[in-house]
Amino acid sequence: MTKAPNELTIVEAARALRARELSVRELWDACHAVAVAKNPELNAFLEIFDADDAAIEAAQKRIDTEGEKAPVLCGIPLGIKDNIMIEGKIASAASKILENHKAAYDSTAIAKLKEAGALFLGRTNLDEFGMGASTEHSAFGPTKNPHDLSRVPGGSSGGSAAAVAAHLVLGAYGTDTGGSCRQPAAHCGIVGFKPTYGAISRHGIIALGSSLDQVGELGKSAEDIRILFETIRGHDPLDSTTNPEGLYPAPQVPAKLRIGVPRHLVEQEGVDAELRAVFDAALKKLEKEGHTIVDIELPMSSYALASYYIVLPAEASANLARYDGMRYGLAKRGQTLLDDYLESRTEGFGEEPKRRILIGTFVLSSGYIDAYYRKADATRAVLRKEFNDAFAKCDVVAFPTAPAPAFKFGEKSGDPVAMYLEDVFTVTANLTGMPAISVPMGSVEKEGKQLPVGMHFTAPHGAEALAFRAAEAVEEVRSA
Ligand code: GLN
Repeated sequence: MTKAPNELTIVEAARALRARELSVRELWDACHAVAVAKNPELNAFLEIFDADDAAIEAAQKRIDTEGEKAPVLCGIPLGIKDNIMIEGKIASAASKILENHKAAYDSTAIAKLKEAGALFLGRTNLDEFGMGASTEHSAFGPTKNPHDLSRVPGGSSGGSAAAVAAHLVLGAYGTDTGGSCRQPAAHCGIVGFKPTYGAISRHGIIALGSSLDQVGELGKSAEDIRILFETIRGHDPLDSTTNPEGLYPAPQVPAKLRIGVPRHLVEQEGVDAELRAVFDAALKKLEKEGHTIVDIELPMSSYALASYYIVLPAEASANLARYDGMRYGLAKRGQTLLDDYLESRTEGFGEEPKRRILIGTFVLSSGYIDAYYRKADATRAVLRKEFNDAFAKCDVVAFPTAPAPAFKFGEKSGDPVAMYLEDVFTVTANLTGMPAISVPMGSVEKEGKQLPVGMHFTAPHGAEALAFRAAEAVEEVRSA
Protein backbone atom coordinates (compact mmCIF):
# COMPACT_ATOMS: atom_id res chain seq x y z
CA MET A 1 0.00 0.00 0.00
CA THR A 2 1.57 3.27 -1.06
CA LYS A 3 -0.82 5.69 0.66
CA ALA A 4 -0.76 6.10 4.43
CA PRO A 5 -4.01 4.78 6.00
CA ASN A 6 -5.28 8.30 6.78
CA GLU A 7 -4.80 9.28 3.12
CA LEU A 8 -7.18 6.63 1.81
CA THR A 9 -10.69 7.35 0.60
CA ILE A 10 -13.51 5.73 2.57
CA VAL A 11 -14.01 3.17 -0.19
CA GLU A 12 -10.30 2.31 -0.29
CA ALA A 13 -10.09 1.99 3.49
CA ALA A 14 -13.23 -0.17 3.65
CA ARG A 15 -11.70 -2.50 1.10
CA ALA A 16 -8.34 -2.62 2.92
CA LEU A 17 -10.10 -3.36 6.23
CA ARG A 18 -11.98 -6.27 4.68
CA ALA A 19 -8.84 -7.57 2.95
CA ARG A 20 -7.08 -7.46 6.36
CA GLU A 21 -4.37 -5.21 4.97
CA LEU A 22 -5.34 -2.76 7.70
CA SER A 23 -6.98 -3.03 11.12
CA VAL A 24 -9.55 -0.62 12.53
CA ARG A 25 -7.06 0.24 15.29
CA GLU A 26 -4.28 1.04 12.80
CA LEU A 27 -6.63 3.26 10.81
CA TRP A 28 -7.81 5.08 13.93
CA ASP A 29 -4.24 5.51 15.23
CA ALA A 30 -3.03 6.88 11.88
CA CYS A 31 -5.80 9.51 11.75
CA HIS A 32 -5.52 10.34 15.44
CA ALA A 33 -1.74 10.82 15.30
CA VAL A 34 -1.90 13.11 12.25
CA ALA A 35 -4.79 15.06 13.76
CA VAL A 36 -2.91 15.59 17.04
CA ALA A 37 0.22 16.65 15.14
CA LYS A 38 -1.42 19.01 12.65
CA ASN A 39 -4.33 20.46 14.61
CA PRO A 40 -2.34 23.08 16.54
CA GLU A 41 -1.54 24.67 13.16
CA LEU A 42 -4.88 24.10 11.38
CA ASN A 43 -7.41 24.40 14.23
CA ALA A 44 -9.73 22.13 12.26
CA PHE A 45 -10.85 20.37 15.46
CA LEU A 46 -12.18 22.08 18.57
CA GLU A 47 -11.69 18.76 20.34
CA ILE A 48 -9.99 15.52 19.34
CA PHE A 49 -11.55 12.57 21.13
CA ASP A 50 -9.61 9.79 22.86
CA ALA A 51 -9.90 6.35 21.33
CA ASP A 52 -13.18 4.63 22.20
CA ASP A 53 -11.70 1.14 22.64
CA ALA A 54 -15.07 -0.58 22.84
CA ALA A 55 -16.25 1.03 19.58
CA ILE A 56 -12.96 0.20 17.81
CA GLU A 57 -13.10 -3.44 18.93
CA ALA A 58 -16.78 -3.77 18.04
CA ALA A 59 -16.13 -2.37 14.54
CA GLN A 60 -13.24 -4.79 14.01
CA LYS A 61 -15.32 -7.73 15.16
CA ARG A 62 -18.14 -6.76 12.85
CA ILE A 63 -15.85 -6.50 9.84
CA ASP A 64 -14.28 -9.86 10.75
CA THR A 65 -17.62 -11.61 11.06
CA GLU A 66 -19.77 -9.78 8.49
CA GLY A 67 -17.10 -8.92 5.89
CA GLU A 68 -18.71 -7.36 2.82
CA LYS A 69 -22.06 -7.18 4.62
CA ALA A 70 -20.75 -4.83 7.29
CA PRO A 71 -21.69 -1.18 6.61
CA VAL A 72 -19.06 0.64 4.55
CA LEU A 73 -18.54 3.22 7.32
CA CYS A 74 -17.83 0.53 9.93
CA GLY A 75 -14.49 1.39 11.56
CA ILE A 76 -14.03 4.61 9.56
CA PRO A 77 -12.90 7.69 11.58
CA LEU A 78 -14.97 10.79 10.76
CA GLY A 79 -15.03 14.46 11.72
CA ILE A 80 -18.29 15.85 13.11
CA LYS A 81 -19.15 19.54 12.90
CA ASP A 82 -19.64 20.94 16.36
CA ASN A 83 -23.34 21.68 15.85
CA ILE A 84 -24.28 17.99 15.45
CA MET A 85 -25.04 16.48 18.83
CA ILE A 86 -23.16 13.44 20.13
CA GLU A 87 -24.51 12.29 23.51
CA GLY A 88 -22.21 13.24 26.39
CA LYS A 89 -19.90 15.37 24.24
CA ILE A 90 -19.80 19.16 24.14
CA ALA A 91 -21.82 20.67 21.30
CA SER A 92 -20.77 24.33 21.23
CA ALA A 93 -21.67 25.52 17.70
CA ALA A 94 -18.37 27.42 18.15
CA SER A 95 -20.19 29.91 20.38
CA LYS A 96 -19.22 31.10 23.83
CA ILE A 97 -22.87 30.79 24.82
CA LEU A 98 -22.64 26.99 24.43
CA GLU A 99 -18.95 26.60 25.29
CA ASN A 100 -19.61 24.02 28.02
CA HIS A 101 -22.91 22.64 26.75
CA LYS A 102 -22.97 18.84 26.72
CA ALA A 103 -25.38 17.10 24.37
CA ALA A 104 -28.04 15.20 26.30
CA TYR A 105 -28.81 12.85 23.42
CA ASP A 106 -27.55 11.71 20.02
CA SER A 107 -28.81 13.46 16.92
CA THR A 108 -30.51 11.02 14.56
CA ALA A 109 -27.55 11.33 12.17
CA ILE A 110 -25.13 10.29 14.94
CA ALA A 111 -27.41 7.46 16.09
CA LYS A 112 -27.38 6.09 12.53
CA LEU A 113 -23.60 6.44 12.29
CA LYS A 114 -23.14 4.60 15.59
CA GLU A 115 -25.41 1.85 14.29
CA ALA A 116 -23.18 1.61 11.20
CA GLY A 117 -20.07 1.30 13.39
CA ALA A 118 -18.50 4.62 12.31
CA LEU A 119 -15.93 6.20 14.64
CA PHE A 120 -15.77 9.88 15.63
CA LEU A 121 -12.36 11.53 15.71
CA GLY A 122 -13.57 14.84 17.10
CA ARG A 123 -15.66 18.01 16.91
CA THR A 124 -14.78 20.23 13.97
CA ASN A 125 -14.66 24.03 13.97
CA LEU A 126 -17.25 26.31 12.34
CA ASP A 127 -18.41 29.88 12.11
CA GLU A 128 -20.52 30.57 15.21
CA PHE A 129 -23.87 28.77 14.76
CA GLY A 130 -22.95 28.26 11.08
CA MET A 131 -23.02 32.00 10.31
CA GLY A 132 -20.19 32.78 7.95
CA ALA A 133 -18.12 31.70 4.99
CA SER A 134 -14.60 31.57 6.46
CA THR A 135 -14.66 30.15 10.07
CA GLU A 136 -13.37 33.57 11.14
CA HIS A 137 -16.61 33.92 13.11
CA SER A 138 -15.76 30.95 15.37
CA ALA A 139 -15.48 32.02 19.02
CA PHE A 140 -12.50 29.65 19.28
CA GLY A 141 -10.25 30.96 16.52
CA PRO A 142 -10.34 30.39 12.76
CA THR A 143 -9.41 27.21 10.91
CA LYS A 144 -6.59 27.50 8.35
CA ASN A 145 -6.72 26.33 4.76
CA PRO A 146 -4.30 23.38 4.36
CA HIS A 147 -3.39 24.59 0.82
CA ASP A 148 -2.23 28.00 2.08
CA LEU A 149 -2.16 28.74 5.80
CA SER A 150 -2.62 32.48 5.19
CA ARG A 151 -6.06 31.79 3.68
CA VAL A 152 -9.46 30.79 5.02
CA PRO A 153 -10.79 27.25 4.49
CA GLY A 154 -14.25 28.63 3.70
CA GLY A 155 -17.18 28.16 6.01
CA SER A 156 -19.11 27.58 7.93
CA SER A 157 -18.02 23.90 7.90
CA GLY A 158 -14.38 24.98 7.44
CA GLY A 159 -13.11 22.66 10.17
CA SER A 160 -14.70 19.61 8.54
CA ALA A 161 -13.34 20.59 5.10
CA ALA A 162 -9.80 21.27 6.34
CA ALA A 163 -9.79 18.03 8.37
CA VAL A 164 -10.64 15.97 5.27
CA ALA A 165 -8.33 17.90 2.93
CA ALA A 166 -5.36 17.54 5.32
CA HIS A 167 -6.16 13.80 5.81
CA LEU A 168 -6.92 14.06 9.52
CA VAL A 169 -10.09 12.05 8.82
CA LEU A 170 -11.39 10.10 5.82
CA GLY A 171 -14.66 12.00 5.66
CA ALA A 172 -16.69 14.47 7.66
CA TYR A 173 -20.16 15.84 8.26
CA GLY A 174 -21.16 19.45 8.29
CA THR A 175 -24.37 21.39 7.94
CA ASP A 176 -25.35 23.41 4.91
CA THR A 177 -27.82 26.28 5.27
CA GLY A 178 -26.54 28.50 2.48
CA GLY A 179 -23.47 26.69 1.16
CA SER A 180 -21.58 25.70 4.29
CA CYS A 181 -20.47 22.29 3.03
CA ARG A 182 -20.05 23.10 -0.68
CA GLN A 183 -18.11 26.38 -0.40
CA PRO A 184 -15.48 25.13 2.12
CA ALA A 185 -15.16 21.92 0.09
CA ALA A 186 -14.39 24.07 -2.99
CA HIS A 187 -11.80 26.13 -1.12
CA CYS A 188 -10.12 23.02 0.34
CA GLY A 189 -10.13 20.91 -2.83
CA ILE A 190 -12.57 18.18 -1.74
CA VAL A 191 -16.18 17.18 -2.53
CA GLY A 192 -19.01 18.78 -0.53
CA PHE A 193 -22.71 18.01 -0.72
CA LYS A 194 -26.07 19.34 0.42
CA PRO A 195 -28.94 16.83 0.05
CA THR A 196 -32.56 17.57 -0.82
CA TYR A 197 -34.27 19.38 2.05
CA GLY A 198 -35.85 16.72 4.27
CA ALA A 199 -33.60 13.88 3.08
CA ILE A 200 -31.76 13.79 6.42
CA SER A 201 -33.19 14.33 9.88
CA ARG A 202 -32.41 17.63 11.60
CA HIS A 203 -33.22 16.12 15.01
CA GLY A 204 -30.29 16.92 17.30
CA ILE A 205 -28.74 19.49 14.94
CA ILE A 206 -28.27 22.94 16.47
CA ALA A 207 -30.71 24.96 14.36
CA LEU A 208 -29.71 27.96 12.27
CA GLY A 209 -32.37 28.39 9.56
CA SER A 210 -34.86 25.57 9.96
CA SER A 211 -36.32 25.72 6.43
CA LEU A 212 -32.80 25.78 4.90
CA ASP A 213 -30.62 23.56 7.14
CA GLN A 214 -29.48 20.11 6.02
CA VAL A 215 -26.73 17.86 7.31
CA GLY A 216 -24.11 17.84 4.54
CA GLU A 217 -21.25 15.54 3.64
CA LEU A 218 -17.57 16.27 2.96
CA GLY A 219 -15.27 13.70 1.40
CA LYS A 220 -12.43 12.96 -0.99
CA SER A 221 -14.61 11.56 -3.79
CA ALA A 222 -18.18 11.58 -5.06
CA GLU A 223 -18.41 7.88 -4.23
CA ASP A 224 -17.47 8.57 -0.59
CA ILE A 225 -20.08 11.33 -0.45
CA ARG A 226 -22.77 8.94 -1.63
CA ILE A 227 -21.85 6.52 1.19
CA LEU A 228 -21.80 9.28 3.82
CA PHE A 229 -25.23 10.42 2.58
CA GLU A 230 -26.87 6.99 2.26
CA THR A 231 -25.84 5.99 5.80
CA ILE A 232 -27.79 8.78 7.51
CA ARG A 233 -30.64 9.58 5.10
CA GLY A 234 -34.27 8.66 5.61
CA HIS A 235 -37.55 9.56 7.24
CA ASP A 236 -37.38 10.23 10.98
CA PRO A 237 -40.44 10.35 13.25
CA LEU A 238 -38.48 12.84 15.38
CA ASP A 239 -38.32 15.37 12.51
CA SER A 240 -41.65 15.98 10.79
CA THR A 241 -39.91 17.81 7.94
CA THR A 242 -38.12 14.64 6.80
CA ASN A 243 -39.40 13.29 3.51
CA PRO A 244 -41.34 10.02 3.43
CA GLU A 245 -39.84 7.24 1.30
CA GLY A 246 -40.88 7.53 -2.32
CA LEU A 247 -41.80 11.22 -2.16
CA TYR A 248 -39.67 11.85 -5.23
CA PRO A 249 -39.45 9.31 -8.04
CA ALA A 250 -35.99 7.79 -8.52
CA PRO A 251 -34.30 9.76 -11.31
CA GLN A 252 -33.05 8.28 -14.57
CA VAL A 253 -29.27 8.64 -14.49
CA PRO A 254 -27.90 8.78 -18.03
CA ALA A 255 -24.20 8.03 -18.59
CA LYS A 256 -23.95 11.24 -20.62
CA LEU A 257 -25.51 14.26 -18.98
CA ARG A 258 -27.17 17.40 -20.27
CA ILE A 259 -25.47 20.12 -18.23
CA GLY A 260 -27.29 23.45 -18.08
CA VAL A 261 -25.07 26.53 -17.74
CA PRO A 262 -26.58 29.94 -16.90
CA ARG A 263 -23.78 31.96 -18.51
CA HIS A 264 -25.48 35.28 -17.80
CA LEU A 265 -25.30 34.53 -14.07
CA VAL A 266 -21.63 33.56 -14.19
CA GLU A 267 -20.84 36.79 -16.05
CA GLN A 268 -22.91 39.05 -13.89
CA GLU A 269 -21.65 37.82 -10.50
CA GLY A 270 -18.07 39.01 -10.96
CA VAL A 271 -16.32 35.65 -11.08
CA ASP A 272 -12.51 35.76 -10.82
CA ALA A 273 -11.08 35.64 -14.38
CA GLU A 274 -8.74 32.71 -13.78
CA LEU A 275 -11.44 30.73 -12.02
CA ARG A 276 -13.75 31.43 -14.95
CA ALA A 277 -11.11 30.05 -17.32
CA VAL A 278 -10.85 26.83 -15.26
CA PHE A 279 -14.66 26.54 -15.30
CA ASP A 280 -14.85 26.99 -19.07
CA ALA A 281 -12.00 24.51 -19.64
CA ALA A 282 -13.70 21.90 -17.42
CA LEU A 283 -16.97 22.33 -19.36
CA LYS A 284 -15.08 21.84 -22.64
CA LYS A 285 -13.56 18.60 -21.32
CA LEU A 286 -16.98 17.37 -20.25
CA GLU A 287 -18.30 18.14 -23.72
CA LYS A 288 -15.42 16.21 -25.27
CA GLU A 289 -16.41 13.21 -23.16
CA GLY A 290 -19.86 13.27 -24.70
CA HIS A 291 -21.83 15.32 -22.19
CA THR A 292 -23.96 18.12 -23.64
CA ILE A 293 -23.67 21.72 -22.50
CA VAL A 294 -27.02 23.52 -22.67
CA ASP A 295 -27.40 27.29 -22.35
CA ILE A 296 -30.08 28.14 -19.82
CA GLU A 297 -31.50 31.33 -18.33
CA LEU A 298 -32.20 31.72 -14.63
CA PRO A 299 -33.16 35.40 -14.49
CA MET A 300 -34.59 35.38 -10.93
CA SER A 301 -31.50 33.74 -9.47
CA SER A 302 -29.79 37.08 -9.10
CA TYR A 303 -32.30 37.85 -6.32
CA ALA A 304 -31.48 34.68 -4.40
CA LEU A 305 -28.72 36.15 -2.24
CA ALA A 306 -30.85 39.12 -1.16
CA SER A 307 -33.74 36.77 -0.31
CA TYR A 308 -31.47 34.42 1.61
CA TYR A 309 -30.10 37.25 3.75
CA ILE A 310 -33.66 38.08 4.81
CA VAL A 311 -35.06 34.56 5.27
CA LEU A 312 -31.98 33.23 7.08
CA PRO A 313 -31.63 36.02 9.66
CA ALA A 314 -35.40 35.86 10.29
CA GLU A 315 -35.24 32.15 11.08
CA ALA A 316 -31.94 32.47 12.94
CA SER A 317 -33.31 35.22 15.18
CA ALA A 318 -36.20 32.93 16.14
CA ASN A 319 -33.96 29.89 16.67
CA LEU A 320 -31.43 31.82 18.75
CA ALA A 321 -34.15 33.13 21.09
CA ARG A 322 -33.80 29.92 23.11
CA TYR A 323 -30.34 30.95 24.36
CA ASP A 324 -31.59 33.14 27.16
CA GLY A 325 -29.30 32.24 30.05
CA MET A 326 -32.05 30.08 31.57
CA ARG A 327 -32.11 26.83 29.67
CA TYR A 328 -28.76 26.13 28.04
CA GLY A 329 -25.22 27.34 28.28
CA LEU A 330 -23.91 30.63 29.59
CA ALA A 331 -26.02 31.96 32.48
CA LYS A 332 -25.19 35.46 33.70
CA ARG A 333 -27.09 36.91 36.62
CA GLY A 334 -27.94 40.62 37.02
CA GLN A 335 -30.40 42.61 39.14
CA THR A 336 -33.54 41.67 37.25
CA LEU A 337 -34.71 38.91 34.93
CA LEU A 338 -34.21 41.25 31.97
CA ASP A 339 -30.62 41.83 33.11
CA ASP A 340 -30.10 38.06 33.15
CA TYR A 341 -31.20 37.82 29.52
CA LEU A 342 -29.25 40.86 28.40
CA GLU A 343 -26.02 39.93 30.13
CA SER A 344 -26.10 36.28 29.04
CA ARG A 345 -26.80 37.13 25.40
CA THR A 346 -24.46 40.12 25.27
CA GLU A 347 -21.54 38.11 26.56
CA GLY A 348 -22.44 34.80 24.94
CA PHE A 349 -23.07 35.79 21.32
CA GLY A 350 -20.39 37.02 18.92
CA GLU A 351 -20.78 39.91 16.51
CA GLU A 352 -22.27 37.97 13.58
CA PRO A 353 -25.12 36.28 15.52
CA LYS A 354 -25.94 39.68 17.04
CA ARG A 355 -26.01 41.27 13.59
CA ARG A 356 -28.32 38.55 12.26
CA ILE A 357 -30.61 38.70 15.30
CA LEU A 358 -31.00 42.45 14.69
CA ILE A 359 -31.70 42.00 10.97
CA GLY A 360 -33.98 39.03 11.62
CA THR A 361 -36.14 40.69 14.23
CA PHE A 362 -36.35 43.80 12.02
CA VAL A 363 -37.58 41.94 8.92
CA LEU A 364 -40.13 40.07 11.03
CA SER A 365 -41.41 43.15 12.89
CA SER A 366 -45.04 44.07 12.22
CA GLY A 367 -44.19 47.20 10.24
CA TYR A 368 -41.77 45.46 7.89
CA ILE A 369 -42.76 41.82 7.59
CA ASP A 370 -44.73 42.39 4.36
CA ALA A 371 -42.03 44.48 2.75
CA TYR A 372 -39.12 42.18 3.61
CA TYR A 373 -39.78 38.72 5.02
CA ARG A 374 -42.91 37.85 3.02
CA LYS A 375 -41.41 39.15 -0.23
CA ALA A 376 -38.19 37.22 0.31
CA ASP A 377 -40.11 34.09 1.23
CA ALA A 378 -42.24 34.44 -1.93
CA THR A 379 -39.12 34.38 -4.14
CA ARG A 380 -38.53 30.78 -3.07
CA ALA A 381 -41.47 29.48 -5.09
CA VAL A 382 -40.35 31.56 -8.07
CA LEU A 383 -36.82 30.14 -7.84
CA ARG A 384 -38.15 26.59 -7.54
CA LYS A 385 -40.22 27.08 -10.67
CA GLU A 386 -37.34 28.65 -12.54
CA PHE A 387 -35.09 25.67 -11.77
CA ASN A 388 -37.81 23.09 -12.45
CA ASP A 389 -38.43 24.72 -15.83
CA ALA A 390 -34.69 24.57 -16.57
CA PHE A 391 -34.67 20.86 -15.67
CA ALA A 392 -36.93 20.22 -18.64
CA LYS A 393 -33.89 21.04 -20.79
CA CYS A 394 -31.03 19.69 -18.66
CA ASP A 395 -30.27 17.06 -16.01
CA VAL A 396 -28.19 19.33 -13.76
CA VAL A 397 -27.33 23.04 -13.57
CA ALA A 398 -23.63 24.00 -13.35
CA PHE A 399 -21.80 27.09 -12.17
CA PRO A 400 -18.68 27.77 -10.09
CA THR A 401 -19.19 27.04 -6.36
CA ALA A 402 -17.72 30.37 -5.23
CA PRO A 403 -16.84 33.53 -7.17
CA ALA A 404 -13.11 33.28 -6.33
CA PRO A 405 -10.66 30.89 -4.63
CA ALA A 406 -10.02 31.03 -0.87
CA PHE A 407 -9.35 34.55 0.38
CA LYS A 408 -6.91 35.80 3.02
CA PHE A 409 -7.69 36.09 6.70
CA GLY A 410 -9.10 39.54 7.43
CA GLU A 411 -9.90 40.27 3.79
CA LYS A 412 -13.68 40.12 4.30
CA SER A 413 -14.20 39.77 8.04
CA GLY A 414 -14.64 43.53 8.50
CA ASP A 415 -17.20 43.81 5.69
CA PRO A 416 -20.29 41.63 6.21
CA VAL A 417 -21.66 42.21 2.70
CA ALA A 418 -18.36 41.15 1.08
CA MET A 419 -18.54 37.97 3.17
CA TYR A 420 -22.20 37.37 2.18
CA LEU A 421 -21.27 37.65 -1.51
CA GLU A 422 -19.23 34.43 -1.12
CA ASP A 423 -22.58 32.62 -1.02
CA VAL A 424 -23.96 34.05 -4.24
CA PHE A 425 -24.00 30.71 -6.07
CA THR A 426 -24.74 28.33 -3.22
CA VAL A 427 -27.77 29.79 -1.42
CA THR A 428 -30.27 29.08 -4.21
CA ALA A 429 -30.18 25.31 -3.58
CA ASN A 430 -31.11 25.95 0.06
CA LEU A 431 -33.92 28.33 -0.88
CA THR A 432 -35.35 25.80 -3.36
CA GLY A 433 -34.52 22.71 -1.25
CA MET A 434 -32.72 21.06 -4.16
CA PRO A 435 -29.64 18.81 -3.79
CA ALA A 436 -26.32 20.36 -4.82
CA ILE A 437 -22.71 19.27 -4.90
CA SER A 438 -19.30 20.91 -5.25
CA VAL A 439 -16.50 18.91 -6.87
CA PRO A 440 -12.88 20.02 -7.44
CA MET A 441 -12.49 21.19 -11.06
CA GLY A 442 -8.88 22.40 -10.99
CA SER A 443 -6.86 25.12 -9.35
CA VAL A 444 -5.76 28.70 -9.89
CA GLU A 445 -2.42 30.15 -8.87
CA LYS A 446 -2.39 33.06 -6.43
CA GLU A 447 0.87 34.40 -5.01
CA GLY A 448 2.73 31.24 -5.96
CA LYS A 449 0.22 28.85 -4.37
CA GLN A 450 -2.12 26.50 -6.21
CA LEU A 451 -5.60 27.10 -4.80
CA PRO A 452 -8.35 24.57 -5.56
CA VAL A 453 -11.66 25.68 -7.08
CA GLY A 454 -14.95 23.83 -7.33
CA MET A 455 -17.68 23.20 -9.87
CA HIS A 456 -21.21 23.28 -8.48
CA PHE A 457 -24.10 21.15 -9.72
CA THR A 458 -27.73 21.53 -8.70
CA ALA A 459 -30.12 18.62 -9.36
CA PRO A 460 -33.91 18.29 -9.10
CA HIS A 461 -35.54 17.41 -5.75
CA GLY A 462 -34.73 13.84 -4.77
CA ALA A 463 -32.24 13.43 -7.64
CA GLU A 464 -29.08 13.15 -5.51
CA ALA A 465 -28.00 10.36 -7.91
CA LEU A 466 -27.80 12.93 -10.72
CA ALA A 467 -25.66 15.25 -8.60
CA PHE A 468 -23.31 12.36 -7.77
CA ARG A 469 -23.11 11.34 -11.44
CA ALA A 470 -22.23 14.92 -12.45
CA ALA A 471 -19.49 15.08 -9.82
CA GLU A 472 -18.13 11.75 -11.02
CA ALA A 473 -18.11 13.03 -14.59
CA VAL A 474 -15.82 15.87 -13.47
CA GLU A 475 -13.61 13.41 -11.57
CA GLU A 476 -13.38 11.28 -14.72
CA VAL A 477 -12.27 14.14 -16.99
CA ARG A 478 -9.75 15.28 -14.39
CA SER A 479 -8.13 11.87 -14.07
CA ALA A 480 -8.23 11.20 -17.85
N1 GLN B 1 -22.22 31.56 4.43
C1 GLN B 1 -23.61 31.33 4.67
C2 GLN B 1 -24.07 32.14 5.83
O1 GLN B 1 -23.28 32.78 6.42
C3 GLN B 1 -23.85 29.88 4.82
C4 GLN B 1 -24.11 29.37 6.18
C5 GLN B 1 -24.38 27.92 6.26
O2 GLN B 1 -24.59 27.24 5.25
N2 GLN B 1 -24.42 27.44 7.49
O3 GLN B 1 -25.22 32.17 6.18
